[in-house]
Amino acid sequence: MAYNCIVLIKQVPDTKRITGEAMNDDGTVNRSALPAIFNPEDLNALELALQIKDKFGGKVTVITMGLPAASAILRDSLFRGADEAILITDQRCAASDTLATSYILSCAVKKADFDIVLCGRQAIDGDTAQVGPQLAEKLGIPQITYVEELIELNGKSITARRNIGAGWQQVRTKLPALLTVTGDANEPRVAAAKKMMKYKNARTPVEVEQKIKAENADATEADIQKLVEHKYSKLEAKDLLIKQWDLDYIGADLMWCGRSGSPTKVHRIQSVVLAAKESKNIEPNDQGVSDMIHELIEDKIIA
Ligand code: FAD
Repeated sequence: MAYNCIVLIKQVPDTKRITGEAMNDDGTVNRSALPAIFNPEDLNALELALQIKDKFGGKVTVITMGLPAASAILRDSLFRGADEAILITDQRCAASDTLATSYILSCAVKKADFDIVLCGRQAIDGDTAQVGPQLAEKLGIPQITYVEELIELNGKSITARRNIGAGWQQVRTKLPALLTVTGDANEPRVAAAKKMMKYKNARTPVEVEQKIKAENADATEADIQKLVEHKYSKLEAKDLLIKQWDLDYIGADLMWCGRSGSPTKVHRIQSVVLAAKESKNIEPNDQGVSDMIHELIEDKIIA
């Protein structure tokens, strides 16, 4: 049996490359100072979906909710083997906490045909690991979180091994189901050269519009519209127009989106600056490593 997999992916600031400008004076993240990347565990979720497609057949659809710039990770997913990509972008999504985010994503997922929904375990910026479980609840399907290995898929049920910290559990549940996938699950494949050639010009409608507006600053609104529609039909003919949905299209109730759908209140933001107090140079040879291990054992840092 073939399976339709939907993978939820998020574009995140690269929190490993924090520099002095990473935080604004008011304690919020200065996103423009950090490179935007594919959330690492979402790559593992995508890889698992692609492995399911390779073995059983079916289709892999990736969905992200984000700013127009998030189109980059949709293209990246197509390069790696996804069949379809969807951007949910709408100004009314702004200020969404995890509850509103998972509600919006659930409306989008319900528009598609699915057997398995895959999320990363956690996003490296928000760091809550709440969106996957909340999404399963809103879709009314069972979930297996912290998946590190897919054991069996038999058309009716799915069995997976999940990490429980000090060990693992093997869990079976009926389909459709949602999995949240950890970084240990697999080694994400790289982009395929053939697919990069095929999809390098794939664009979302919002990207097309932004580019045409920038290149035709003096044109009238009507002329811009004509140019945009012409470009859309050219891309569509080559299957290079990435789908873009807004809140009206997915039938979301605005009361549950953005600020009105977000009960989380941020009371205080604290900027924590970690200063290196002490550092030690280790010689890059066997003796250096051996001395370091002995020191760590003596200090009871490792046993
Ligand atoms: P996690 O729960 O850790 O993510 C788990 C998995 O869920 C991911 O690996 C991925 O598979 C999936 N996932 C998570 N987010 C998405 C997504 N957007 N699209 C597709 N899949 C996803 N963020 C903004 O960008 N703009 C805002 O204006 C904004 N306002 C906020 C206001 C408040 C009060 C709060 C609390 C948060 C706000 N955020 C905003 C952050 C936003 O709520 C979270 O980034 C988002 O809900 C995801 O939570 P997380 O990062 O903890 O993801």
